[in-house]
Amino acid sequence: MSAAHQSNPDRPHPDRPHPDRWIKVRPEGLYVEPGGFYIDPVRPVERAVVTHGHSDHARPGNRHVLATPGTLAIMRQRMGAGVGGSLQPLEYGEGLNIGGVAVRLVPAGHVLGSAQVVLEHAGSRVVVSGDYKRRPDRTCAPFEPVPCDVFVTEATFGLPVFRHPPDLGEVGKLLHSMALFPERSHVVGVYALGKCQRLITLLRAAGYDRPIWLHGALEPLCRLYGEWGVELGELRPATVAAKEDLKGALVLAPPAAVADRWARRLADPVVAVASGWMRVRQRARQRGVELPLVISDHADWDELCRTLEDVGAPEVWVTHGREEALVHYATSRGIRARALALIGFEDEDLEGGPEKAGEGEAP
Ligand SMILES: [Zn+2]
Ligand SMILES: [Zn+2]
Repeated sequence: MSAAHQSNPDRPHPDRPHPDRWIKVRPEGLYVEPGGFYIDPVRPVERAVVTHGHSDHARPGNRHVLATPGTLAIMRQRMGAGVGGSLQPLEYGEGLNIGGVAVRLVPAGHVLGSAQVVLEHAGSRVVVSGDYKRRPDRTCAPFEPVPCDVFVTEATFGLPVFRHPPDLGEVGKLLHSMALFPERSHVVGVYALGKCQRLITLLRAAGYDRPIWLHGALEPLCRLYGEWGVELGELRPATVAAKEDLKGALVLAPPAAVADRWARRLADPVVAVASGWMRVRQRARQRGVELPLVISDHADWDELCRTLEDVGAPEVWVTHGREEALVHYATSRGIRARALALIGFEDEDLEGGPEKAGEGEAP
């Protein structure tokens, strides 16, 4: 039996202070006091540990950044010189001691380089999962459950109504529509980091081997993923393509671009968006999405619940989304649970969220 299951949070041992004594919520973010570092700080700090490259987690201007090599590569590409002072890579599974806190990064299965932060201090193990999902993704290492005393979980889709259907079924809908309307272009709104590359690998896995056309804002990260060994097949720039070339073509663009002027260059486009939020039909309709594809890089309700079982933590801290339902669920399973009031996180799938179309790139 693991240490996690032997722990009893109701009877703290004097030598084993409860983790809320050494991990604190501050305005800058989650602070690991003895190590003097923040995890995914929302303001520039002296020492930051960054779980992954999405812009609400990885922000510029920290003096010292610790992250996986993949995340650092993404941060360098997106932020350039503003990325911060010193960047320290830590490979998955490698250990490091910061001020008496043992730190380890393990895969979170969210996007390339994404990591959970495993912290051990004063006899307790705390896992800060960042964003994660449990279903297969060819673009990143799979989520690794780590038994712990306290599990800090996201809850972006923390309501029982959010159950993502199988990914290949959603991709099948897109391919079916393309077969049905061979003269029309299909433009799919995808978030630039992660969703774009994942959708491409899903399409390739489903046997789609024609070129895929990209909005300019999606090109740099696709190039980076390619350099990191993620096979994406033939990609072409949509921005310079002739309208005639895009007849019957599959075009990927940031979500905000699919509904605007940019998409008008396409031949009678079928507008699709790939996002966990497409489960909400009303949201799809409001945005003029003809073909909603429910594909997410976040755990759905079942994955969140299963993960609580898998890590076996007697206590969970819930953040980053709809905390209440998951707190309630955990409590009903005999797990101590509370919402963690972290600010500054927005889901990257949301239109008007932290990253909009373009973001420093040519359209
Ligand atoms: Zn994320
Ligand atoms: Zn996030």
